[in-house]
Amino acid sequence: MNWEDLENAVKNCTGCDLCKGRTNVVIGRGNKNATVLFVGEGPGEQEDLEGVPFVGKAGQLFELCLDAACFDRSEIYIANVVKCRPPENRNPLDEECMACLPFLRGQFALIRPRVVVCMGLVASKTLLRHTEPMNRLRGKWENVKGTLFLTTYHPAALLRNETLKMPFYEDILSVKKVLEEIKNNIL
Ligand code: SF4
Repeated sequence: MNWEDLENAVKNCTGCDLCKGRTNVVIGRGNKNATVLFVGEGPGEQEDLEGVPFVGKAGQLFELCLDAACFDRSEIYIANVVKCRPPENRNPLDEECMACLPFLRGQFALIRPRVVVCMGLVASKTLLRHTEPMNRLRGKWENVKGTLFLTTYHPAALLRNETLKMPFYEDILSVKKVLEEIKNNIL
């Protein structure tokens, strides 16, 4: 599958009930040859309207953290587990995540990132099958068949709880450090 096939398949998808409430599908944004793939949960209201991920308040906070870390945007691609907005911004259900997972797998196969950052428990559970609470998962790196995975908070959690901002920022710095090591052939 190439990008055009994938994008057309998502746009026409009726694989779960989330298709009924969407204004736009939200596939992803960023460099399609990125080293780092950031994965959130699903589109919110603004994302649904614009068809672009992480453009609402949580996305703006995420961008501020990337700026503070001087993160080169050409290094990243941003996507969600589900491509259609869950009603009332609820978490996507397990069956919705599973129905949509082939598209995220397709993105992973096309991008071939060295690093995947799971932002929030939905992404961590869907991609890594983790069921532990975030305080046990956050900040831990895992090597899965040569790809490095990190679980951290979803940026929306930082809007609800200010104390999570610093650990999230530390995780962003950790990603940047790993990126440097990859560039320098240390990893
Ligand atoms: Fe299809 Fe994913 Fe949208 Fe469900 S969320 S309708 S599986 S694109």
